Amino acid sequence: MRKLAFTSLLLVAGFAHAENCVIDLKGDDAMKFDQASVTVSASCKTIEIKLTHTGKMPVAAMGHNVAITTTPDFMPVAQDGMKAGLPADYLTPADARVIAHTKVIGGGESTSVSFDGNKLKAGGDYTFFCSFPGHWAIMKGTLIVE
Ligand code: ZN
Repeated sequence: MRKLAFTSLLLVAGFAHAENCVIDLKGDDAMKFDQASVTVSASCKTIEIKLTHTGKMPVAAMGHNVAITTTPDFMPVAQDGMKAGLPADYLTPADARVIAHTKVIGGGESTSVSFDGNKLKAGGDYTFFCSFPGHWAIMKGTLIVE
């Protein structure tokens, strides 16, 4: 019995230091994300982006998504995406500069998407943002991979 308890303790300690493979963001009707930076582990096989829109406004007026690019690609991708429209989630279809993105959602909705963790490199320079027109100037943050 003593040995079993010790093993359980090790398991709990292991979970406490587990890799972080989830990016969990909330957007609101004030055009804000709840975090200015998020961190994931470079060792993640799969990374999940979760987005919750905590506001009440409809998608056409206050839609939010989460897109990830390298920081140098962020502004050109956001500017090109404005032309793509809501059905394309305000991102140019099949844009290779987009590492991952969720769909655009409205108030009260939530969404998630998973992508290959190998697309992110430790120490890389990444930005997450909402590609809805006009939002990306404010709704953006740093994605840290360590
Ligand atoms: Zn937005």
